[in-house]
Amino acid sequence: MSSTTPVLFWFRQDLRLDDNPALRAAIETGQPVVTVFVLDDETPGDMAYGGASHWWLHRSLDSLGNQIKEAGSKLILRRGDANDVIPKLIDDVGANHVFWNRRYAKWQVEADKALKQSLEDDDIKVTSCNGRLLYEPWDIKTKSGGPYRVFTPFWKALKAEGKVRDTVTGIRKMDGPSSYPKSDKLSDWGLLPTKPNWAKSFEEVWEPGEKGAMNALRDFLDGPADSYKDDRNRPDRDGTSRLSPHLHFGEISPVQIWHIVRDKMSAGDVPDSQGDVFLSEVAWREFSYSLIYHNPDMHKKELMEKFRDFPWKQSKKKLEAWQKGQTGYPIVDAGMRQLWREGWMHNRVRMIVGSFLVKHLLLDWREGMMWFWDTLVDADEANNTASWQWIAGCGADAAPYFRIFNPMTQGEKFDPDGDYVRKYVEELKDMPAKHIHTPWEAPKDVLKKAGVELGKTYPEPIVEHKQARQDALDAYQSIK
Ligand SMILES: Cc1cc2nc3c(=O)[nH]c(=O)nc-3n(C[C@H](O)[C@H](O)[C@H](O)COP(=O)(O)OP(=O)(O)OC[C@H]3O[C@@H](n4cnc5c(N)ncnc54)[C@H](O)[C@@H]3O)c2cc1C
Repeated sequence: MSSTTPVLFWFRQDLRLDDNPALRAAIETGQPVVTVFVLDDETPGDMAYGGASHWWLHRSLDSLGNQIKEAGSKLILRRGDANDVIPKLIDDVGANHVFWNRRYAKWQVEADKALKQSLEDDDIKVTSCNGRLLYEPWDIKTKSGGPYRVFTPFWKALKAEGKVRDTVTGIRKMDGPSSYPKSDKLSDWGLLPTKPNWAKSFEEVWEPGEKGAMNALRDFLDGPADSYKDDRNRPDRDGTSRLSPHLHFGEISPVQIWHIVRDKMSAGDVPDSQGDVFLSEVAWREFSYSLIYHNPDMHKKELMEKFRDFPWKQSKKKLEAWQKGQTGYPIVDAGMRQLWREGWMHNRVRMIVGSFLVKHLLLDWREGMMWFWDTLVDADEANNTASWQWIAGCGADAAPYFRIFNPMTQGEKFDPDGDYVRKYVEELKDMPAKHIHTPWEAPKDVLKKAGVELGKTYPEPIVEHKQARQDALDAYQSIK
């Protein structure tokens, strides 16, 4: 084949030029490389991008497009069913070989398998690589050869696996084809909200793109990494990396993170005790991917069968109060409002609000999962699904159902001065720490001084904690 025949590289969840194994493999053919991103709203079904992800995607593609331009080429944008768009583009440019990094959710595996088969039937070569995980979901196996259902032995096995692959050389220069195929304009895709612009405050918090990802990692290693183990549970502190949306969109790979963190640990810049806990969280992500890969219906069906008959309630009113951060439980409301304001929520608070939805309100975990799917900038088919099942007690290695988070004591423990609540629930900004997590117990004069009128400026609790707890335990008894 002539070296002027182009090959196609399909960007999916790997929006980066560094450590991109399939892109590197495409470049190494020595043929011109056409790069494409396809906005496919059809194939994913209910796993199509949510609103917050659209915002991130726009910004990330904008940044990637500029990087590719600087490298001397052009990113092609197309919209539609990828299984039609990719073969059409191959025809348009006369490519003989397609490259992509693998994906692991059910709809993705099925779509990729079908496309690969039909391309190969047409004599188009397909090369796929692992650009998303430290190890493939089928690499980490129990002694009997099956997938792990418990995290700790999974983590031990991952570490025992030996060597995470080396990063592949980043791409600084790209030879495109002699003429480029037609491309959509990013701004025509309408990914950014207009009126109202609910994402305005996202701009203050996030820097989507590969550069932003590396900056986030650097900031983390220069600061919070030193005390990660202790501070990672404190929503009132900047104790975590905030790498999750960057990892979701593949602006940084876990392999890059692994090596950079390990190097810092070896150099004594990050204490082993802290770095190891951080890497174990990155391994939770691997665990989630292993779970969804081996349990492809997990975003719809509980892993533990007995939970498939759980008597979930339906209440639009309660669901909306939860979504809007109007439950009357300050730590829950702060979390839900952080989610709306920033498209992100601290992990500890995700656990508190998740537990509140499924246990205090007895609403179906899938309602929570889908709300997160729409509102999180890091909405991730593996982490979101596995975490919701974990919190609902029906997933792998899950928190036992009967262990019900108490939102007051959780608030007092992890936000002891109430700073997190004050930041996101402005009505309570003048409440003293002693009463900030239980305003309904505060003396009248304290409420008055803080300008709080329960039921008017801030809601009364929508359920009573003790009763809600008992109702949850009764519901659990019915399926036991
Ligand atoms: C109900 C619920 C829903 C969640 N939905 C998502 C989601 O859609 N997308 C998502 O990326 N994470 C999700 N998480 C996991 C976790 O909350 C976030 O990954 C974390 O808060 C991201 O912040 P960070 O990057 O600062 O994390 P750090 O503490 O800095 O951790 C580094 C990285 O490790 C991974 N990680 C950390 N904690 C977990 C975890 N518990 N499970 C899996 N991976 C983890 C993430 O990729 C994260 O970016 C969810 C958790 C809960 C309880």
